[in-house]
Amino acid sequence: MKVLVLNCGSSSIKYQFIDTVEKTALAKGLVERIGMSSAVLSHSRYDGDTIKIVGEILDHQIAVEYVLGVMLSKNHGVIDNKNDIEAVGHRVVHGGETFTGSVLITDEVIQVLQDNIELAPLHNPPNLKGIQAVKRILPDTPQVGVFDTAFHTKMPPKAFLYGIPYELYKKYKIRKYGFHGTSHLYVSNKAAEMLGKKIEDLKIVTAHLGNGCSMAAIDKGISVDTTMGFTPLEGLLMGTRSGDLDPSLILYIMGKEGLSLNEAGTLLNKHSGLIGISGESSDMREIQKAMSEGHKRSTYAFDIFSYRIKKYLGAYAAAMGGLDTFIFTGGIGENSAEVREEVCKNLEFLGIELDLEKNRNKDLIISTDNSKVKVLRIPTNEELVIAMDTSHIVEEIQVKAN
Ligand code: ADP
Repeated sequence: MKVLVLNCGSSSIKYQFIDTVEKTALAKGLVERIGMSSAVLSHSRYDGDTIKIVGEILDHQIAVEYVLGVMLSKNHGVIDNKNDIEAVGHRVVHGGETFTGSVLITDEVIQVLQDNIELAPLHNPPNLKGIQAVKRILPDTPQVGVFDTAFHTKMPPKAFLYGIPYELYKKYKIRKYGFHGTSHLYVSNKAAEMLGKKIEDLKIVTAHLGNGCSMAAIDKGISVDTTMGFTPLEGLLMGTRSGDLDPSLILYIMGKEGLSLNEAGTLLNKHSGLIGISGESSDMREIQKAMSEGHKRSTYAFDIFSYRIKKYLGAYAAAMGGLDTFIFTGGIGENSAEVREEVCKNLEFLGIELDLEKNRNKDLIISTDNSKVKVLRIPTNEELVIAMDTSHIVEEIQVKAN
């Protein structure tokens, strides 16, 4: 099946057109600066052909029309007809407690997503805009929602409940949800495949380290704990997010600095993490460069970033009562040999022995042959998970209809 995968953000749409039989992307691209007169669409085709279009793209519907336009174009396209898009799969950030797996998007599903907006005020509205745009432009094409939270919905209450009055969970659904689920799911299954093991026989810790960062403890293929929480703010240090902190300190800062609720949210989500500590950048490449030039605050940022990953790794090994596989993924996890080395340092007692040369060479298996725990570096592919889920759901419905 040929599936268009859309990841709609507030001012951007990432897309891939995937052949689920060959498991390859026929085309991929990005629309940036939606809402502005100088929006940019960058499109690349499987054969290396690329094109950049600059124009006025005022909303998500126009952006999707542009994407279809370039996919249909004679010189840069990959389809002859809109109907060659057999289904559309959307990355949807928050499925709340309702969606434990991917679903065909119906009017009822759209309603539930609307009801969930309070849980994900930054992410779900643009996801919904993308869904509505496709509904208008491709009214007969089935759409599927694949949720970032779904993989974590089997966590036990001891992992997902917070130490606050239980009534608040019942009343406002305040609990740990976790995010990056499709990535944790993809790399854990890929690791089992690479190691020739069944996922049911493995205790895995995954570290998705991109601009947002999260880890998951995956026991027998089930996410039993994860570092992100009610929102993506909890857990690891990230590009601009603080991760774990003492909740009282924010009340203290609000009092001292006279911050509003919104300003406090911005402080923790946009001005903290790597950028907040280093004062230099939220980008790990810049942090490492500044560090090599002796910039002390960048060294702090790098050290805190790596230390937290190490702490959670130990915590999750304890939580699962063992560890077989540790996986790095995401822009930093896949590319920063320095972070991987720092995280894995002195973990021989846990059965982790990094092969420094393999790590530098960007091998996929980067532990020594004798290491009890296999350490892997796996490029994530969330779009493929979304495309595969979409095709399974749509095919199932087609079979039932016949
Ligand atoms: P997103 O979460 O937005 O999808 P990515 O997964 O692309 O982001 O990760 C972005 C992060 O990856 C940035 O901090 C960037 O600095 C980091 N990164 C990319 N390449 C390298 C590299 N070669 N070395 C260190 N960090 C890198």
